[in-house]
Amino acid sequence: MDGSTARRFRSELLEWAEENLREFSWRDPDRSLYEVFVAEFFLTQTPAENVATVYPRFLDRFSSLGAIEEAEESELAEVIEPLGFYNMRSDALKQIADEHDTLPETVDELTDLVRVGPYVANATLCFAHGEPLPILDRNVERVYDRVFGDEWPDSPTERRQFADRHLSTDRPRTYNLALLDFGAAICQPEPLCSECFANGYCEYYQER
Ligand code: SF4
Repeated sequence: MDGSTARRFRSELLEWAEENLREFSWRDPDRSLYEVFVAEFFLTQTPAENVATVYPRFLDRFSSLGAIEEAEESELAEVIEPLGFYNMRSDALKQIADEHDTLPETVDELTDLVRVGPYVANATLCFAHGEPLPILDRNVERVYDRVFGDEWPDSPTERRQFADRHLSTDRPRTYNLALLDFGAAICQPEPLCSECFANGYCEYYQER
């Protein structure tokens, strides 16, 4: 696939996003870093629809790291319980709140927090501040793997570099949201290729 096709995918994905991005309350552009972080922390290993049921209640009760610090861990666990992994999650949030008055604002500092990996750190900074940081989760990797075929590298380091190169630097927030939603709505595990804008050049579709 040449560079012009990669640019075409990026451009068409952004165009697709104009009509198709899902609406979730944590995607409101006015959300604070803390509010976006909470959503991304919960979205790890949990479907967005489940997070949507807990998120407003959590923020009503715990509007800041200070509120978490003052709470009992059992109170946290009770609110988080419907998401699963509630002991692990409440334990981690409590530890973060005990050690920080406010969230740090760099990838390195965020990934130093307990149970915060590169995905949550990059997604938080991109969605809250518009920073041009790539995101890679299982769904995004599936999209890149299918569209780019042999160009999609094997090693984690090269995959991060690949994602960095393909990010839209002028609209990183929309591009990353579009990747997530395209992977959820069209390029699903059972892909809807006949409805897909990329089926004219997607390596997976061309080789079927
Ligand atoms: S053509 Fe099919 S496999 Fe390729 S990106 Fe579209 S939905 Fe995914």
